[in-house]
Amino acid sequence: MLDKLLCRKDQTVLEALRLINSNALGAVFVVDRQDKLMGVVTDGDIRRALLAGKDLNEKISVICQPDFVYARLGESPQEIIARTNEKIRFLPIINSDGEVVDYFHHRKGFSVQVASPDLQGNEFKYLVDAFLSTWISSSGKYISLFEQNFSSYVGCQYGVATSNGTAALHLALMALGVGPGDEVIVPDLTFAATINAVLHAGATPVIVDILEDSWTIDPAEIEKAITPRTKAIIPVHVYGQCCDMEAIQAIASRHKLYVVEDAAEAHGAAYQGRRVGSLGNISTYSFFGNKILTTGEGGMCLTNDPELDRKMRVLRDHGMNKKKRYWHDVLGFNYRMTNLQAAIGVAQLERIDDILAKRRQIEDAYRAQLGDLPNLQWQTDLEGCERVVWLVCALITDGKRDRYMVEMKEHGIDSRPFFYSLSEMPLYEQYAFSSSVSRKVSQMGINLPTADIPDVSVMEKLHEIFSS
Ligand SMILES: *Cc1c(COP(=O)(O)O)cnc(C)c1O
Repeated sequence: MLDKLLCRKDQTVLEALRLINSNALGAVFVVDRQDKLMGVVTDGDIRRALLAGKDLNEKISVICQPDFVYARLGESPQEIIARTNEKIRFLPIINSDGEVVDYFHHRKGFSVQVASPDLQGNEFKYLVDAFLSTWISSSGKYISLFEQNFSSYVGCQYGVATSNGTAALHLALMALGVGPGDEVIVPDLTFAATINAVLHAGATPVIVDILEDSWTIDPAEIEKAITPRTKAIIPVHVYGQCCDMEAIQAIASRHKLYVVEDAAEAHGAAYQGRRVGSLGNISTYSFFGNKILTTGEGGMCLTNDPELDRKMRVLRDHGMNKKKRYWHDVLGFNYRMTNLQAAIGVAQLERIDDILAKRRQIEDAYRAQLGDLPNLQWQTDLEGCERVVWLVCALITDGKRDRYMVEMKEHGIDSRPFFYSLSEMPLYEQYAFSSSVSRKVSQMGINLPTADIPDVSVMEKLHEIFSS
């Protein structure tokens, strides 16, 4: 590797660029004929020099700055790390003769992240307020505020905040009386929490295939999978996309089935002018750290049914009678959210429009810069559905997804493959009804970094990787 980092002082700027391109570290160490270190040149230094009128055929030594950071052989890792910062991530190590003998590279994991929470509004202020109030457990003003604000944002009457999105799903199923002997239809492409909640309720999941264009549950497959034991359907608005709720609701009312919308990845998405999460009997949300809105860990159930609201509140709180403390009528859970989490949630919700707009902007940037690649297929915009961007999604249609992901990782660009289809995991395969589309989509799908608008060099690198 060291040979790809060393550039003789009489080599040209162009040759230095070639080295930088091959070492992928963004810089070279300039040495004299005796291998003595003269300086460090970064790709940024070269860019600035070219803009200032320097030529690609000039000697690299004309760019080489005399002030640079280096370490001496024998220094401790702590001493060397202390010399690194956001900009300087790697440096040359020289021996007592000033010769470059090694280099140090401080890898702080990925520099381009898939997701990171945006906490730049009133999150800290409200959190501190909740803390100072000493109401840090599951009572306090922020809980009811978050429940009210979020349910009215989605367009639902009632909100029941929970400890996480999986608890919300389980709570919804328990409130609907779903249990042993019941079948619940779930899509094959979803995060496993959807099916786990069904299994924890003691019911039998039935996994059905997804649609080719939306990647959401296929209503025709739901219809085929219905038996006399079917009790509920859990459409998942996966990757911010709306399920075909009109068709699903029609099937549900024809067969008298409950609909629990899993909207964990679709805060703010709208279907035919109404927000998803306001369309089923109950909907569930997650506020995990990588979701569109976050409270660290957290979730919520929404409903328009006062009786379901009441049941969920009791079940969330140990099944304890609301009027008679320590009296338990039903077997409940502790699925409460804390006031601290809710305080963060209230602040997050204040900025949901900005958060969604930013994510859309990130997706637009990818589409603009990588849109010419024939092997990338972007998420579909469907008639009547205003999807939201959770993580930027694409299908890689040339079969090389996994290879690209390895290359991205080598360049510090993180990514995620789509969820495995549930039916391909031995844990769930016995519940599979149909799965051919979801298998294909799952193998092709990738989530690109959605934490920030990637800068030009990252876009160029991605373009290069996906074209290779
Ligand atoms: C994240 C997620 C969940 C679970 O939420 P947690 O808060 O992590 O328990 C459930 N369903 C889907 C589709 C999810 O993406």
